[in-house]
Amino acid sequence: MSKIQVMNEDLANKIAAGEVVEKTMNVVKELVENSIDAKSTMIKVELIDSGVKEIKVIDDGIGMDKDDAVLAFSRHATSKLKSLDDLFNINSLGFRGEALPSIASVSNVTLKTSDGKTGTMVELVGGVIKEIKSCDLKQGTTIIVKDLFYNTPVRLKYLKSLYTELANISDYLNKMALSYPNIKFILINNSKELLNTSGSGDLLKTILNIYGLIVANKMMFIENMNNDYKISGYISYPELTKSNRGSITLLVNNRVVRNNEIIKAILEAYHTYIPKDRYPYIVLNIEVDPFLVDVNVHPTKMEVKFSKQDNLLNLIMETISNKLSKKTLIPKVINENVEDNYYQDDLNVNNDLFNSPEVIKEEIKEVKKLEELTFDFSIQEEKETYEEFPEDSRIKDMYPIGIVHGTYIICENPDGMFIIDQHAAAERINYEKYYHALSTHSKNTIDVLVPYKIELPANEYLILSKNFSILDRLGFKYEEFGTNTLIIRTHPTWIPKYAPLEAIKKIIDIIIMNEDFDEDKFNEKVSITLACKMSIKAGDVITMPDMTYLINELRHTKNPFTCPHGRPTIIAYTKYDLEKLFKRAM
Ligand code: ZN
Ligand code: ZN
Repeated sequence: MSKIQVMNEDLANKIAAGEVVEKTMNVVKELVENSIDAKSTMIKVELIDSGVKEIKVIDDGIGMDKDDAVLAFSRHATSKLKSLDDLFNINSLGFRGEALPSIASVSNVTLKTSDGKTGTMVELVGGVIKEIKSCDLKQGTTIIVKDLFYNTPVRLKYLKSLYTELANISDYLNKMALSYPNIKFILINNSKELLNTSGSGDLLKTILNIYGLIVANKMMFIENMNNDYKISGYISYPELTKSNRGSITLLVNNRVVRNNEIIKAILEAYHTYIPKDRYPYIVLNIEVDPFLVDVNVHPTKMEVKFSKQDNLLNLIMETISNKLSKKTLIPKVINENVEDNYYQDDLNVNNDLFNSPEVIKEEIKEVKKLEELTFDFSIQEEKETYEEFPEDSRIKDMYPIGIVHGTYIICENPDGMFIIDQHAAAERINYEKYYHALSTHSKNTIDVLVPYKIELPANEYLILSKNFSILDRLGFKYEEFGTNTLIIRTHPTWIPKYAPLEAIKKIIDIIIMNEDFDEDKFNEKVSITLACKMSIKAGDVITMPDMTYLINELRHTKNPFTCPHGRPTIIAYTKYDLEKLFKRAM
């Protein structure tokens, strides 16, 4: 058999093996996971052109002796091949071993490795060993993969998507750094440093290295357990969100996984704290007996399912809800004035307050380099304004000073100055009232003096009549009147007194528009819609006593910090922020 035929066979094997070497990203993954298995404390990935031209992975792991170094490229080296069941064993990344020969077969590889005694260098071209010799190297392994896919048609396809490939690699290494905070990860592409973590073992510090100071400053530690699961990690204050779920990292026994049900449970816990289609920053590690984990669908994508999944989801939901309900979550204005949430430092941004945004952004880049140094005094998990409030209200009492633009109520108390959005605040108060009445099936009703007549188009009336049971459940008394007309004689007391007919029409609209009737979702929808429509609007004139009443009602809601759409109701300039702004304090 000629060498070319062997090559074709290799390629066929590779394709059969699925995604082992399908992308540069997978090559990086294999090499990095080898380094982790080798007990490295530092892993440096250097790429040229997103890795298509060159991938160099340097580690300080246990290294290999000469025999192992040569054997590593043998297709029959199966020492590492593990079963799927072993995937979540804490000490192994398992389920590889075929990868190194596959990678070598589609590239030119140089391996330098030392077990601390002897150094060995192996050179391969297209999977064939060209040279083996001794070399000088301190303990560890350096592997250089050049001209990846040079001998396959796949290459062309990847030249088109260098940026995507780099983004994937960067995302992967970020997640590995979060999984292994005790390993220092460095990523460099075309001489530009994209990641450099401390490897100190401190998860919050790793979050700082990846997401920057603003994010790290607004994370809360959580921890909890039940009979089967132990969870721990960091969750963000609701004011800090991202437009995609890339901000959520799920780990099972320190291994990155995907699970949509868990993401749903997290979003459920943040419900009405953050706007729809926004995601909190989360790093959550789940410790569990591997026996309870099923690798579902795709081992390479790490989609997993759990036995007793509901127990896990409840644990996550309860722990996050509890944490959120114990905190004062008023956003501080001072941290918010640079568009990009990353890489800013409190003090520096404030000093630059009168510079142009460009200048600020440039300096922020500088600040990023200093983060490592400033970390210790900049990160305070429990900040002054984020104290826990165990008693009946999560916002301290405050009194109104006046109103701006007919919308924003200015208030003060000894802690500082606060601005309340009158519509958002009223909306939160009303939303909780409606939701409470609906979910407790409040049966208090009022007979109306002059019955309301509601006429609908035939198609809508038909849907409504199929769902009369909902009107019954809500406490309405009504009768059908001629064709497509309903007469309402009695309605529940929570229907707002000043515009009852409008509110009733809204509820009927919701019944007609929603095909499947989940009671919770229906209650939620009705509460939000009525709260928005029936609350004072921006620009509505209100008096000082109205403002005092509004503040008090808001203080006694379950979540006074956001409206049911997740927008903030209140923001703060602390006394200290004001002093800093006016340079009374530095
Ligand atoms: Zn609204
Ligand atoms: Zn709203």
